Amino acid sequence: VRQPRSSGPYSVRRPTPTPLGDRVGPATLAAAAYGLLYLIWERTGLGSQTLRDIVGNVAFMPLNLGVVVLNTWASGHEALDDRVRRMLRLLALGSLLVLIGNSISTYYIVGLHANPPVSWADLFYLSDSVCILAALLLIPISRRTRLEHWKFLLDAAMVIIGGGVIIWYFSVRPSATSLDESLVVTLLAFAYPLVSLLVLLGLTTVVLRGPLDPNRRALTLVLGGLALSVIGDLTFDLIVVETGGRRASLIDAVYLLSYLLMIASAELYWREPVAPAAGSQQPPPRLQPLSPLPYLAVAGTYALLLYVAFSPWQDPISGIAAGAVAVTALVVVRQLLAVRENVRLLAETAARQNEARFRSLVQHSSDVIILIRPDGAIRYVSPSASRVLRYDPGALVGRPLTDLLHRDDIDRARQFVADAARAPGVIPPVEWRFRQPDGSALHAEIIATNLLDEPTVRAIVLNTRDVSERKRLEQELIHQAFHDPLTGLANRALFRDRVSHALALAQRQGRAITVLFLDLDDFKKVNDTLGHAEGDRLLIAAAERFRACARVTDTVARLGGDEFAMLLEDGTGLDGADELIERLGESMQPPFMLGGNEIQVRTSIGVATASGDESADDLLRNADVAMYAAKRGGKGRSATYQTKMYDDLKERLELESALRAALGRDELVLHYQPVVCLRTGAVRGVEALVRWNHPRHGMLLPQHFVPLAEESGLILQLGDWVLRESCRQLQTWRLAWPELQLTMAVNISGRQLQEREVVEAARVALYETGVDPAAVVLEITESVLMQQTGSVLERLRELKQLGVRLAIDDFGTGYSSLGYLRRFPIDILKVAKPFVDDVAQGVEKAALARAIIALGDTLKLQTVAEGVELAEQRAALTVLGCHYGQGHYFAPALPADRLDEHFANSPRVSEDDARRIDAWLTLGVPA
Ligand code: C2E
Ligand code: MG
Ligand code: MG
Repeated sequence: VRQPRSSGPYSVRRPTPTPLGDRVGPATLAAAAYGLLYLIWERTGLGSQTLRDIVGNVAFMPLNLGVVVLNTWASGHEALDDRVRRMLRLLALGSLLVLIGNSISTYYIVGLHANPPVSWADLFYLSDSVCILAALLLIPISRRTRLEHWKFLLDAAMVIIGGGVIIWYFSVRPSATSLDESLVVTLLAFAYPLVSLLVLLGLTTVVLRGPLDPNRRALTLVLGGLALSVIGDLTFDLIVVETGGRRASLIDAVYLLSYLLMIASAELYWREPVAPAAGSQQPPPRLQPLSPLPYLAVAGTYALLLYVAFSPWQDPISGIAAGAVAVTALVVVRQLLAVRENVRLLAETAARQNEARFRSLVQHSSDVIILIRPDGAIRYVSPSASRVLRYDPGALVGRPLTDLLHRDDIDRARQFVADAARAPGVIPPVEWRFRQPDGSALHAEIIATNLLDEPTVRAIVLNTRDVSERKRLEQELIHQAFHDPLTGLANRALFRDRVSHALALAQRQGRAITVLFLDLDDFKKVNDTLGHAEGDRLLIAAAERFRACARVTDTVARLGGDEFAMLLEDGTGLDGADELIERLGESMQPPFMLGGNEIQVRTSIGVATASGDESADDLLRNADVAMYAAKRGGKGRSATYQTKMYDDLKERLELESALRAALGRDELVLHYQPVVCLRTGAVRGVEALVRWNHPRHGMLLPQHFVPLAEESGLILQLGDWVLRESCRQLQTWRLAWPELQLTMAVNISGRQLQEREVVEAARVALYETGVDPAAVVLEITESVLMQQTGSVLERLRELKQLGVRLAIDDFGTGYSSLGYLRRFPIDILKVAKPFVDDVAQGVEKAALARAIIALGDTLKLQTVAEGVELAEQRAALTVLGCHYGQGHYFAPALPADRLDEHFANSPRVSEDDARRIDAWLTLGVPA
């Protein structure tokens, strides 16, 4: 998390360095040069003693002045810490006091020609040390507590007592015994070294505590300068003790260096002040190293006590002992304070660590933790907000929470916060959408905890978790639940729902909605021949075309398999539907590329409209029924729903289930129509014609149920049964009437020929009944041959191999080309009834029948005339050379038991004759 750059009062830049760089300033250089000159002059020993005395005093004044001026200027910097500025002012004051003291001394020497041991100058010199001590105490160091101050006072007391005892013993006592010293002199003898010791204590305390002033170099310089001056002072005092003199010129070098450091420091503070870093709080309190000075004082006192105790008994010991006792007492008190302090520090450190741990938990939590006031204003936001919500956490503080929320969630959020503020505790999760800076919405789950009564928190805590991924998954699941995975279109459930809504709306607005039901024609064939993968590709491609045809307001759905649906809600009704159907028809024109083949696929469409009380299911069903009707009318068509369609369909469905039942209940029967030799009138065979003996509707003719059986696939079972039953009957008759050499014609539906099983069924029927295959004729209508050439041809060849003969039924109605007739393994042509009807109506009308019979002759096929009703027809057909005939003129289709009389009455033809007739029939030789 990037912290904002502070522009607070402390952000003062360092000034650009002077040409001298930020090393040594001009004032420092000047002071250095000055000091050097002075030292050189002093070494040379030029000038009279008086001059030397004067110069000795005056020489330091410019340096004092320099310290005063520079420190005063530096203390004017507002960027500096307040305490540092006060410290600088105190240092300036101290130096000013020394300046005054020096002036007084100079006055004594120059004006009064005296160098008294005590003067007013001493007052100023001592005051300087007090200022310095105060300045040292101002330097910001690691946290000061009240105890710290007490500790310093105790330390100071120890230094004063211990140092005082030693000074008394070595310095004051010897001179006091001479009794020529005044009280002031005695006091000064104590004051100078003690004050120096205190300054030293202050220095060591500052250094050991670690000063916090960022002007490190300047501070080091000033501390060094002060240390040097203390050393100078103490040395000076020692020299005074040793020599009793007031001057100690060798120390001047130390003092000069001390001033130099002070000036360098002041100049640094002035020219390059460093502001304390923003936000740099007090460092945590730590266990502090101890200043050795008080302990040295204690040690010194005891050492002195021991020294006196073991020396010859001449010195008074009581003062030293009292000092030792006092110092010891101070040590004990200080130790107690230190112990107390350390205990407190340890507790504080533990608490801090605890807090740091929880803080880091909050800060590194993946959830965003938001603290808000009861009025909804944000008090705190954890750093994860920048990652999760994409807001800078700092910028959010103070803003109302609702600023961050999606418009639609604001009212709920207000209510939630109000509820949460009412009582302490956890409030069950809610979901809000946060508005991210780029405007996108972030789904979040929020758990609120009211901690308003918790003194350390005093807020409502919102644990905010990003749940957008979960939301996305939920939405994906919902999408999956309502969409077809293959095409991505709406599924049946969603479509039904949309239709329901549209109906409700339509009812209120009084306008129509329309549903289209689409079914791909021959989809099963694609699936069966090209495989399911290609079937799926066809579905996807078709769905794409449907979608392209739809308008934005329309819903396109896949209801399952190859069934699609469209909902038109725009109220344009059937007109709109017609337009759409036209577009759909055009879009299906281009062939689909499937498995490397170009395949034309068409769609059957049912249309249904509703505006009233219909339910969605009603409307869908109506469209489905209309589609079914369209399909029955032929492929690639559309039909609009009419009530009749539904009734028809219902009837058909009922019939279908009845037929299914009929197959198992032996309600089907076979009637047989004799096929007669036109010339001799001898019965040649029979044609099996199926009937349904319906319990309610009576004897139903094939036209009422065979097409239905073909559509529903029941024809396969039905055809099986017919084959077996007719073969069984044929075998019975052939045994009963062997001389007739009867044949059996069985009608085979085109639908049966699509299935490989038909061959097997025929084989089984022949085998089980033991009938001669040559006596069985399978009739296939001409239109079937026209439709599916490839597979049908294959099937016919297989049937032919069983030994049966094949006939083309209703020949002349199916427009078959001569080419086909040559390709199919055909034995018999059955001349369709319309040509037979015309055959006795004059030469012209008989032309077609003549042509067909001639064609049969040419191709060496037997010809059978169907529907012969009149004697003239039989005569005409006989003349034209047609071989056989069947029709009401001879006999209608009859139940099996009625055929026997026909067989009995049939003229007998001898075996020879029969063979001759057959030869004649096939070779066209007249008998
Ligand atoms: P089809 O194979 O052409 O059968 C001849 C139809 O003409 C029969 O009608 C028959 O009763 C009728 N018919 C015969 N002589 C005359 C006549 O002199 N005048 C008139 N007006 N009609 C005559 P049916 O039995 O109603 O059969 C109709 C069609 O049903 C058959 O035509 C055949 O295609 C089909 N069919 C009949 N039985 C079966 C079967 O078992 N399986 C299959 N797949 N189709 C069958
Ligand atoms: Mg037939
Ligand atoms: Mg026929």
